[in-house]
Amino acid sequence: MASGYCVGVDLGGTNIAAGLLDSEGNIKSSLSISTEVDKGRDQVVANIIAAAEKAISQAGVDRKDVLGIGVGSPGPMSHRQGMVINPGNLPCMKNVPLRQIMKDKTGIPTTIENDANAAAWGEFWAGAGKDVNDLVMYTLGTGVGGGVIVESRLLRGYFENGAELGHVIVNPGGRLCSCGQNGCVEAYSSAYFLARHAEELIKQGDSSSLKARMDAGELLRAEHIVEAAKAGDALARKVWDKACYYLAVAIIGMRHVTNPQRVVLAGGLIAAGDFLLAPIRRYAAEMAWKLLDDGPEICFATLGNNAGFVGAAGCAWEARRTGDW
Ligand SMILES: [Zn+2]
Repeated sequence: MASGYCVGVDLGGTNIAAGLLDSEGNIKSSLSISTEVDKGRDQVVANIIAAAEKAISQAGVDRKDVLGIGVGSPGPMSHRQGMVINPGNLPCMKNVPLRQIMKDKTGIPTTIENDANAAAWGEFWAGAGKDVNDLVMYTLGTGVGGGVIVESRLLRGYFENGAELGHVIVNPGGRLCSCGQNGCVEAYSSAYFLARHAEELIKQGDSSSLKARMDAGELLRAEHIVEAAKAGDALARKVWDKACYYLAVAIIGMRHVTNPQRVVLAGGLIAAGDFLLAPIRRYAAEMAWKLLDDGPEICFATLGNNAGFVGAAGCAWEARRTGDW
């Protein structure tokens, strides 16, 4: 175990989470503050720095033992340039050289990573993938985020937009995705689109117990679909089945590209438990080739909402090890 600590910061549209971790991934402090995105760029940057400083002071460690800061930022961003480029949920943060600003203001070396990559690194480093070298993570939230670790290295790609696993097309010509493509895994397997899918079918005339909620003016949510599907509602079952099916299609694709030992599922939808896991495992086993038994183990993430800042701190530890800040 290396001595010292690294700070991890998870920059979100609503909150900034931060924590101080040792080299084994043990959390020494953690906190969350408001991003205050409506107050503009300077305030958001000040809050990121304040979150990092609080993580250090709350842990009560000697400042000279703090060896690095990692910041997970929504994309598009550039790890290489240390820049936040144009995150959709943080419109005031266009072209912000955050790595340099953090380094100047705190005096601590800083690395910037895509937030989905950072979360995947968190599970790899200190969570559900702790014991493997090759991992793929899908975060099933409002959208579908992803991260890919190959031979213990984070995959970014030439344009640094690799591992956008939510936008892998699994059904050409299928449902329109938020990105403008048709048939992305996100258009079926994200919490948001799962609910929209059900709404659309009901509007087209399919009968469902969910119609009563819509008639009452309620916006359907993923948990409504899960609840109705568990109760036997045919339409909810159909939509849920598609979500599981297309995610399994995506996983089989990854199986043949990076050959992961483990596929980790995270995000709000995993609250559905075995109701989610069992059909994905079944489809992934049924559809995949039978030439070789090289299918990944599919399981749930273990870090929950901490994955972002834990992984960001892990990225700082990795930057220190490799010199790639
Ligand atoms: Zn898409």
